[in-house]
Amino acid sequence: MKIPKALYIDDNRKDFKFPQQLDKDLYNERFKNKLFCHFYGCNAKISFNERKDGYKYFSTWNKSSHAEDCPYCVTYKDEIKRSKVLDKQVDTNLSQSHIDKIFKRLDGKLKYENNLDTTVTDEQNGSKLVNENGTKENIQPIIGDSDSSTTKPPKVYIRALDELSKRDFNKIRCVYGSIKNMQIEKNQDGSKYAYMNFDSSEVNASICFPPAFAVNNQVLIDKFDLLREYINTNSETFLCQCIGDVKSKKGKPFKGYNVNIFQAEAIRINDIPLERFIYNLVISSKL
Ligand SMILES: [Zn+2]
Repeated sequence: MKIPKALYIDDNRKDFKFPQQLDKDLYNERFKNKLFCHFYGCNAKISFNERKDGYKYFSTWNKSSHAEDCPYCVTYKDEIKRSKVLDKQVDTNLSQSHIDKIFKRLDGKLKYENNLDTTVTDEQNGSKLVNENGTKENIQPIIGDSDSSTTKPPKVYIRALDELSKRDFNKIRCVYGSIKNMQIEKNQDGSKYAYMNFDSSEVNASICFPPAFAVNNQVLIDKFDLLREYINTNSETFLCQCIGDVKSKKGKPFKGYNVNIFQAEAIRINDIPLERFIYNLVISSKL
């Protein structure tokens, strides 16, 4: 699997590197053994490759393995399962404490990524401290409360828009990015659904509020016109973080991703839970 960028770690320096920035000599001299997977909490070692025709790419270092929740983690089991799963129903009902844990981990990922862009002296910041030999830390993927009785809650991995892949289909994922606009539509039976489009030139992805969301969150969806108005007319950036079921957009060839949301608790706008965000709008519209 080709990996678009790598994290370069040399003593106190940390930096993203792209394959186009390297060549064989430079790699052997300065970067060999110092490139790692950029994904939060993953410490897999990365190697640089250059084909005869000059095409350059990163790949996983022989025998190094990615963290379980890393988008570049490929296991044999995973490959088999993928070929069998088409449009499986997944359990989308998450407990509040499960959701809190996922967002907390996302906060950690964002903090980690933001720190990389500036100079890094983040020993306290933790979870991506790479051992000298590149061995993997034992990271804990997020699972739900072990005492919840009937079905086991799904493991929820975190994906930036450009970390999404077809391997995330029919899985619950925590997806984040900025929002471009919001639309509200009606089905023929009169039921409402809504969606928000992520703002990305590379990845076509939307957050969807299917009619099932409307049924569970009637009071909220009644205020969606206000939310749409606010998002579509405001020039500020809306950072949206949501936990939902990832599906392929309808149509072929592949068009993009839909993230279906079923619970109001599973979405935050600018770090504010959706319900609170809308409540704030209602209050200010009455002033
Ligand atoms: Zn990785």
